Amino acid sequence: MDIKKGDTVEILTGADRGTRGVVLRAMPKEERLVVEGVNLQKKHSRQTTQTGSGRAIKSGAVEFPAPVHISNVMLVCPKCEKLTRVVRRSGEEGRGRFCKSCENPLDAPRK
Ligand SMILES: [Zn+2]
Repeated sequence: MDIKKGDTVEILTGADRGTRGVVLRAMPKEERLVVEGVNLQKKHSRQTTQTGSGRAIKSGAVEFPAPVHISNVMLVCPKCEKLTRVVRRSGEEGRGRFCKSCENPLDAPRK
């Protein structure tokens, strides 16, 4: 999987097509990503708390981004801002992931 947590991706399909967001979580086994503000689902939560005088019930809907499949997103290069593919290199000039368009390294250099 070429996309990691912290990358910016653009959604290619569905209701969120064209939306860009930061990857909050990568799930390599499932090939899925959780992207900030994308594929929002509402989760209804209900909490019952026992208080001194009686019971207080709190309820509400919490919005959270559901995972999207990696085939529905494309990486956005932070430098050239193009939708790009990742090139992997391991050599003396650098190693890791690079933007296919502008050769910008996508990973922080290791020191
Ligand atoms: Zn680039």
